[in-house]
Amino acid sequence: MVNKSFHFAEEVKLARRNRPMDPRFASQFGHITDWIFDLDNCLYPASTGLFDLIDQRMGAFIERLLGVDPVEAKRVQKAHFHQHGTTLAGLMREHQVDPHQFLSDVHAIPLDRIEPDDRLADNLGRLPGRKILFTNADEPYARRVLEALGVGGHFAELHDIHAAELQPKPNAHGYRLLLDRFAVDPRHAAMVEDMAQNLKPAKALGMTTIWVDNGSERGNHGHHPDYIDLTITDVGEWLEEMLGENE
Ligand SMILES: [Mg+2]
Repeated sequence: MVNKSFHFAEEVKLARRNRPMDPRFASQFGHITDWIFDLDNCLYPASTGLFDLIDQRMGAFIERLLGVDPVEAKRVQKAHFHQHGTTLAGLMREHQVDPHQFLSDVHAIPLDRIEPDDRLADNLGRLPGRKILFTNADEPYARRVLEALGVGGHFAELHDIHAAELQPKPNAHGYRLLLDRFAVDPRHAAMVEDMAQNLKPAKALGMTTIWVDNGSERGNHGHHPDYIDLTITDVGEWLEEMLGENE
């Protein structure tokens, strides 16, 4: 037997949830079916300083690997970064470091600086389309951060540094692999990212680009208006503004 009052309440709830979006949203993003989000310093503010903890573990890893002091480890870390593009690339090439071991070690950081973000979770849930996480970190760490933020259930897919064949953003190789892997049409995709330079290949591939200007170190490095369609400061706040406040 159908419970009419229950159905009515559900319909009212649905009508509220599906009420018209802000017209700006429809005109700029109405064609988007896939949303590609960066993780670190994008879904949470750069002020949490998580990357400092990862950076410290990279130094400690090199100290143990080479039996050197922190100052020498730092020098090696920076030298690899500048010579090979990433610290890991240099360690693999010159010291035969196993990438899985390195990445899981440096990402074994406490996440007590991350708090659940109800506004972000709620608005990701109301955002129409598929959500894909695209990170230069590894998948186990990314899943831990998503859980700590309380948004893990909203991401249908996750493309990590191993899926990108260890070619970190902004190397276009990982972007192409993502598009192929999940059958994403870049003309119907938007990418949300705190490192401006990582939006350049996204734009070149045909995506709509959103830069999260939230104070990341070197976040504005390589910034150019030609490949940034919209600048925001907080993902949850922006989505709430566009989708309307939930009731
Ligand atoms: Mg980031």
